[in-house]
Amino acid sequence: LPYSDYIRSRIRTVPDWPLPGVQFRDITPLLQDKKTFRVLVDIFVHRYMDQQLDLVAGVDARGFILGAVIAYELNLGFVPVRKKGKLPFTTIAEEYELEYGSATVELHADACQPGQRVLLIDDLVATGGTMIAAAKLLQRIGAEVVEAAAIVDLPELGGSKLVREQGIKLFTVCD
Ligand code: 5GP
Repeated sequence: LPYSDYIRSRIRTVPDWPLPGVQFRDITPLLQDKKTFRVLVDIFVHRYMDQQLDLVAGVDARGFILGAVIAYELNLGFVPVRKKGKLPFTTIAEEYELEYGSATVELHADACQPGQRVLLIDDLVATGGTMIAAAKLLQRIGAEVVEAAAIVDLPELGGSKLVREQGIKLFTVCD
């Protein structure tokens, strides 16, 4: 992808955050700069503009920033996949394993209609657990997850491979 080096150059790696030994990929410089933010959003908008999508789903919390803008630009609605306990109406939940312990993501039971073509957006794929759980939630209420997409893939963690092994198409801008 022609813009992947440009996008990668604006992602900051923060050592030992949130825990010692973790190299956290900080995407805030990418969002802060008006040019990189526009280039980034446009990569997704151009990729999905002719895909006859019905809805964009974004993952709590950085997937909201990107997902909502992409949805607006594609003239689509947006639905949030949230961390446990944040959604007020009837929810469905998926629990998944983390390195230490587990996490749960939730979706409103009426977030989409059966057969709707949904694009799933998050900022980054690490172990893949979050993206797989989010896709499962959407599929459980009948969505067709056309593709899952993120800015960054950390391929050495094996998550993108796991996502694809689940039959979920995955697009990332850079690694
Ligand atoms: P996974 O479930 O694939 O292990 O982790 C991905 C989820 O955790 C995403 O929702 C992402 O926002 C967050 N995450 C994990 N590591 C990082 C990181 O280094 N940078 C950013 N920006 N998010 C991360």
